[in-house]
Amino acid sequence: TYIFGIETSCDETAAAIVKNGTEIVANVVSSQIESHKRFGGVVPEIASRHHVEQIIAVFQETLEQAGLTFKDMDAIAVTKGPGLVGALLIGVNAAKAIAFAHQLPLIGVHHIAGHIYANRLVKEMAFPLLSLVVSGGHTEIVYMAEHGSFKVIGETRDDAAGEAYDKVARTLHLPYPGGPHIDRLAAAGEDTYGLPRVRLEEGSYDFSFSGLKSAVINTVHNAQQRGEELVPENLAASFQASVVEVLTEKTIRAAKEYCVEQVLLAGGVAANEGLRASLEKAFSDMPATELVIPPLSLCTDNAAMIAAAGTILFEQGKKDGMDMNGHPGLDIETF
Ligand code: ATP
Ligand code: MG
Ligand code: FE
Repeated sequence: TYIFGIETSCDETAAAIVKNGTEIVANVVSSQIESHKRFGGVVPEIASRHHVEQIIAVFQETLEQAGLTFKDMDAIAVTKGPGLVGALLIGVNAAKAIAFAHQLPLIGVHHIAGHIYANRLVKEMAFPLLSLVVSGGHTEIVYMAEHGSFKVIGETRDDAAGEAYDKVARTLHLPYPGGPHIDRLAAAGEDTYGLPRVRLEEGSYDFSFSGLKSAVINTVHNAQQRGEELVPENLAASFQASVVEVLTEKTIRAAKEYCVEQVLLAGGVAANEGLRASLEKAFSDMPATELVIPPLSLCTDNAAMIAAAGTILFEQGKKDGMDMNGHPGLDIETF
């Protein structure tokens, strides 16, 4: 089967073709980062305009890369949520138009299910499994007993990990998106600032990053007031050490409790070198559980992951109608 995937939930306009749910035939991402940089974050109205301007060219490039046409496709898969509603609607309506014109099934995909299924483009899934999802808007541990089944066993109660990275980066006057910049600085620094590790109640798989973010901001303000020099590398390393330590600890504990075959890393923050290294080290002591980490290009937003997740829904007969809408707050357990 050939599934054509479309992703426009935030600030990347993306399309891809995936064969049999596991093989990337074409993968095109048009990023808008440059347009949002001067505002320090994604401006929804600008994002929607960019999607409209880019989407046809992105589709054409995807078909060209693959040497295929829409007639060769078995279905159109598109992110229907969560995300910015105006951005989602561009992809959803483009998907409907193509599905109608070529009489193809239409499949609405949950964006985070997509991030998780990016892993299937690397390694066949083995169940039960857990996925640590760390992205710009989400931080959660998701349990999967089988394909297409998602249960959230823990999630952030305030900021997402990526959001905390971006806000800390802003405090240090680094460009948007800040995650990769903090990651790079952290590699050159040491964990010297004694920042908190927020673990919440014993046994909980939930997360909280807003206190840590505030601790970084307070550290910067206090240094400014006292006229002290900050060492940005060390502050970045201290922040990253706290995030990575808590994410690793909870993931390992969950993997043991749920006796899973695999742990999959997913979402933009999965690109983080510190997190990748920490999980690899922790799981090297657990040979019964396989750790899967996608390449950087499949961690951040793309449409290959949407086509991969869409393939499973297609095989399960889970189609959407022409009345499909964009859902900014779509729930992964029931979508
Ligand atoms: P969501 O998937 O929750 O809807 P999103 O699609 O905006 O949100 P992604 O594109 O998955 O999020 O990820 C973007 C986030 O990943 C940003 O917050 C960015 O700073 C972060 N990020 C990217 N690379 C790194 C890195 N190397 N270290 C830490 N964070 C990173
Ligand atoms: Mg993005
Ligand atoms: Fe995302």
